[in-house]
Parts: sequence; structure tokens; C-alpha cells
Amino acid sequence: MMKAVAIKKGQTRERAPDFTEMGTFRCDTCGEEFVVFHDPAFVDKKAAGRQAQWLEKVLAEEHERECRHPDRIQLPD
Ligand SMILES: [Zn+2]
Repeated sequence: MMKAVAIKKGQTRERAPDFTEMGTFRCDTCGEEFVVFHDPAFVDKKAAGRQAQWLEKVLAEEHERECRHPDRIQLPD
């Protein structure tokens, strides 16, 4: 089961109904914002910090490959 996910801002309402909002991450390159959500049973602030660093790399790679950011990105534990 998915424990953590980042969802593009504006897409969140119908996509993560029961999850806990952990913070917003902004892509340095294009300014697009993603909200990080955790399953309420697995809320973990340290993990959210690691996930933000991971997300920063993933978003930068997508710009290098000229890919659009997906609406939702599953995050590692
Ligand atoms: Zn971007």
C-alpha cells in the first residue's frame, strides 16, 4: 500500500482524501508546487524531509529529460 505521495497543487482534493498534509514543495526550475501527503498511520516528519530531497532530484531530472511533471509522484519510505 502507498504510504506517501506528492500531488501537484490544485489536483489534491479528489486524489488524497484521507491523507495528512505534510508540507508543500516547490520545483526550483518551473515553480510548480507539490503537496506531500502521508498515510495518517505512517506520518513521519523525518521521512518527509528525506522525501523532499528525493523529490528535488526527481523534478530536476524531469527537466533535464524535458518531461512534464506527473500530477502524482509516489514517494519512497
Ligand atoms: Zn519543475
